[in-house]
Amino acid sequence: MSDKYQVLVVGGGPAGLAAGEAAARQGARTLILERQNEIGYPIHTSGGTWVKDMQALNIPAHLYHPVRNIFFLSPHREVNFQYTTDVCCVVDIRGLYQHLAARAVAAGAELRVRHTVEQVLTEQGRITGVTAKTHVSERINVQADVTIDASGFSRHIGVRTEMGQAFHRYGFGAEYDMYAPNYPQDELFLIMGSAYAPNGYAWAFPRGNGRVRLGVGVIHPDSENDARSYLDSVMRDIPQLATRFKGASPLEYHTGLFPSEGVVDNFTRDGLILAGDAGGHGSTLVGEGIRFAIYSGQMAGDVAADAIKRGDTSVGQLRTFDRRWRTRFGRDMDISYMINKRIAAYTDAQWDSGLDLLKRLTPMQAAQLLRGDYSASLVMGILARNPSLVASGGKRFLDLMLERINKPAAAGVE
Ligand SMILES: Cc1cc2nc3c(=O)[nH]c(=O)nc-3n(C[C@H](O)[C@H](O)[C@H](O)COP(=O)(O)OP(=O)(O)OC[C@H]3O[C@@H](n4cnc5c(N)ncnc54)[C@H](O)[C@@H]3O)c2cc1C
Repeated sequence: MSDKYQVLVVGGGPAGLAAGEAAARQGARTLILERQNEIGYPIHTSGGTWVKDMQALNIPAHLYHPVRNIFFLSPHREVNFQYTTDVCCVVDIRGLYQHLAARAVAAGAELRVRHTVEQVLTEQGRITGVTAKTHVSERINVQADVTIDASGFSRHIGVRTEMGQAFHRYGFGAEYDMYAPNYPQDELFLIMGSAYAPNGYAWAFPRGNGRVRLGVGVIHPDSENDARSYLDSVMRDIPQLATRFKGASPLEYHTGLFPSEGVVDNFTRDGLILAGDAGGHGSTLVGEGIRFAIYSGQMAGDVAADAIKRGDTSVGQLRTFDRRWRTRFGRDMDISYMINKRIAAYTDAQWDSGLDLLKRLTPMQAAQLLRGDYSASLVMGILARNPSLVASGGKRFLDLMLERINKPAAAGVE
């Protein structure tokens, strides 16, 4: 059996669903294949994100839970930022992904669940589609003018071409989704230090109705520690959390992998675009990728549909995606990666000093930093509030950040 589409999307996560919607909205005959039985299940993510992005992406407000109190904990410090408006939030993952799926279908995309993509079809070096196993274990060929690899960490198509290796540096996260009746639903925690998250961090993300995601993420191969073994002690042994998790119990257990080695060199080749985690498009600063996957998917769907209209799906045309993405996100992602490599190796004492610096920032500066919105005014503001940095190694690092901020965004900007 063989099917023919203009755009084929591998993976029904946030990148693939957004890509499918964008391509179909432009009139391309579009198919999304998802290997799982359900969109948005099982869950491999924690859902922390930013209200202004959810609004920009037209996500209905009932699908995210705003939080106004952020706590940072290090071995001997606690820093709290309070916001008077809704700045960050935790999304209902299944609700959000199914909403994106409905939008893709409403735009005209076809979506098939329980369809696992297996092999890549090529003709004279160009990607022309895939083979897939259906829900009834039938093997089919799907031909397409453009294939979008949105398969997440596995980058299922990318690794089957000369475009790349599997990711080498990555975050492994383990998480309980708790019912925690005594946990204040307006408080989000980020916890650093060797006792609870060596080479990574732990988190508590409230998501409404008494539910809280409590997790630990560790970067490999920087560390060989297993995030799973820290979960219970985070809940039990950190005094600030122990009181809040009194009477709580896990209702779900999640694990997941996140690429942490910066963006890949090329996102496109003849007939193929990599989007979302498959292209390393998430921010390595704190392992945040949902909004970036949606933006990247939208861009990939638009570029694919436009290439089809022009009758040119060669790498020369599809490379528009690389340029657009790097112009919008490249600089901030490079800086996030630079910071991540540095803080992933922090000792407990360095985390304590880091929090001493952090507590001098305004709540908005802290949010901007955490969000990875780097600007010269942010760096100057950090220096102004921490004059002692001028004489320390921190100043050299901020200078490097400024240098990167001031560099042109990308070669060949449109
Ligand atoms: C533990 C953890 C916590 C995280 N917490 C956050 C957070 O708080 N906030 C945030 O913004 N980001 C977070 N992230 C990152 C975020 O989850 C990812 O960046 C995001 O999910 C990437 O979306 P994607 O669509 O590119 O890939 P995915 O969400 O991985 O989706 C890929 C889809 O492709 C499907 N697929 C794969 N292979 C095939 C195949 N062969 N055939 C068919 N379908 C296939 C998969 O089943 C999946 O549905 C976290 C990640 C981890 C691991």
